[in-house]
Amino acid sequence: MAVSVTLSLEDVRSLSTEVLIANGMSQANADVITDVVTQAEADGTHSHGLFRVPGYVSSMRSGRMDGKAIPEVSDAGPGLVSVDSKNGFSPPAIVAGKPMAIEKAKSQGIAALGIRNNGNLNALWWEAEHFGNVGLICLTMSTSQSFVAPWGGDKALFGTDPIAFACPREGKPPMVFDYATSASARGEIQVAARDGHSIPEGWALDKDGNPTTDPAAALEGVQLPFGGHKGNAIMIMVELLSAGLTGGNFCFEAQEQVDAFGGHDAGPSNAGQIFILIDPKGFHETFLHRVESLFERILEQDGTRLPGDRRYANRARSATEGVECPAALHQQILDMRAG
Ligand code: NDP
Repeated sequence: MAVSVTLSLEDVRSLSTEVLIANGMSQANADVITDVVTQAEADGTHSHGLFRVPGYVSSMRSGRMDGKAIPEVSDAGPGLVSVDSKNGFSPPAIVAGKPMAIEKAKSQGIAALGIRNNGNLNALWWEAEHFGNVGLICLTMSTSQSFVAPWGGDKALFGTDPIAFACPREGKPPMVFDYATSASARGEIQVAARDGHSIPEGWALDKDGNPTTDPAAALEGVQLPFGGHKGNAIMIMVELLSAGLTGGNFCFEAQEQVDAFGGHDAGPSNAGQIFILIDPKGFHETFLHRVESLFERILEQDGTRLPGDRRYANRARSATEGVECPAALHQQILDMRAG
């Protein structure tokens, strides 16, 4: 059997749509989730592309997540939009709340969009980029499942708690950075386990609390915050803003709900996510020029690049060359078409 198969982006799109709908997702939700999956493949974020489709499917099959959920959008105050995801996945809830959040941010200079009761299996740059594309600065963060020990501890409490930031640019795609506030995304450890690679020191402890570079031992143990106590503090902020503020579950609460369903599904239950959106025109008109002067100074130095540039380069290439998918994963997804 071939090690990998080459798929066009259209192949990815149709396979993802077919499998998600066959397993209980509505067409409208499948269209949005498939866009996330396809964009992740196009941009080379394979840990959040087709690799996540079995997780979307398993969490619908167990009944923990509702693939047909219709998000409920509320005008929660002059600068606030609140979306109840109704136990559906995040991206459809974000798409539902986006128009009101953009309108508020543009008319008032700043707005926040809070999502609750959602499952989050996706890469956050997909979401942040949407707001950067319409000229807004976007800071977003999300809770996930409980995989990470607080600094100094050895029991899972925080999630991998991703954070993403988008900054609009004149005539160019936004600069977007996006990362787990754990020392690595969990998907990176899962991919290392699948491919038989070791992981760097400092990413995880094994189940006995000892440092490990073995991805299988790390998946049984706990992940660590990035940057020691500094990352630990950022994780506290992510939990408070994305779950405490919006009404979603803290990661340890989400984990208790996942465990109640047998603990085998991917993604959190009733998680939370926050978007803080700023229209930079409110402060002064020269912002976009100031952005470029900073970026030019950074890029003058050999060895530098802007966050997001790797993805944009992959995106340009994959549009014509397609993407590589491990053959075993491709077969696993094909086998899910029967529902
Ligand atoms: P990475 O460490 O791969 O990347 C972090 C960021 O740094 C990216 O924006 C990347 O840009 C940028 N970057 C990397 N190298 C450089 C460099 N040399 N110079 C400048 N910028 C650089 O991210 P993670 O592994 O932590 O996270 C991977 C994904 O997992 C994210 O998309 C995140 O949203 C997702 N995730 C989702 C969770 C969920 O619950 N849904 C939980 C945790 C993570 P570039 O992309 O261009 O390389």
